[in-house]
Amino acid sequence: MAKKKKSDKREAKAAPPTVRDLLRVGPEFDLTAVDPRRVVAGPTDKVLARAEAAALEGEVTDLQERLFAESKQGGKRRLLIVLQGMDTSGKGGAVKAIDRVCEPIGLRMTSFGAPTKEEKRRHFLWRIDRAMPPAGAIGIFDRSHYEDVLIVRVRNLVPEDVWSGRYDEINAWEQKWSEQGVVFLKCMLHISKEEQQQRLLDRLADPSKHWKYNPGDVDERQLWDQYQAAYQAALTRCSTAYAPWYVIPADRKWHRDWLLTQLVAETLREMNPQYPTMDFDVAAEKARLAAEKARLAAG
Ligand code: AMP
Ligand code: MG
Repeated sequence: MAKKKKSDKREAKAAPPTVRDLLRVGPEFDLTAVDPRRVVAGPTDKVLARAEAAALEGEVTDLQERLFAESKQGGKRRLLIVLQGMDTSGKGGAVKAIDRVCEPIGLRMTSFGAPTKEEKRRHFLWRIDRAMPPAGAIGIFDRSHYEDVLIVRVRNLVPEDVWSGRYDEINAWEQKWSEQGVVFLKCMLHISKEEQQQRLLDRLADPSKHWKYNPGDVDERQLWDQYQAAYQAALTRCSTAYAPWYVIPADRKWHRDWLLTQLVAETLREMNPQYPTMDFDVAAEKARLAAEKARLAAG
């Protein structure tokens, strides 16, 4: 008996759960059971967490370069990071955290607000299609097509029979893109109602943050429970094998950024992008350059 316990322990040590395992939304998922203040894994200290996240920069930029290089030889893969969350949940801060470990040149960032007149005339996925990152790039969506089953559902912006069909539409659309090389990393930044109130008050207390304050956020806040129910539905109905959802406890900004950075690193590692083999003859090119150098030296 004692022996078996020991080997069980060894096994557990050999394969610690990844951050993706810890945060992935499965069939039994219940958003009300997720504590937004919880430290899920990693450092419990702000300074350490920031340092650990920053230390991933070299590895992440290397993987990002490989992904870009792969696309030069016809590779279709790309990464799309989708950020969703209530107002003040830190989507802007999350973008900064990703930017800190990536080369800005390979990032394609898009924010989705209320649709324009033209967008309203089109299918809800039309504007999303147009913002998809090209092969080899990393896209970041600050809000996304999920607004069409979140605010649209809560605010009754379209009839129920329209929005209720969108979960399946979104799944089919994400599957189509994943077959075309898009790797989805969908993250919900989960804050508590108390934390949102504090962040709104902080914005009001500081004139340099007034531009971030939107009186409309207080109206949406009144619908907190409806929003949580809409998130619960979107998270469970649209967490698939090809495009899973991850829920990030986000009341502590440094922990949110640590988790997000780990998710990005884990995803890129699993993608394992490869430098392509180019179709020129390396030895012949070396010989050409050596001959040129000799010619120059000879004057
Ligand atoms: P912000 O992210 O603070 O710039 O706010 C953007 C606003 O646009 C949020 O209130 C979103 O809920 C809203 N929004 C985004 N997409 C849609 C959509 N498809 N339909 C209606 N409102 C949207
Ligand atoms: Mg806002």
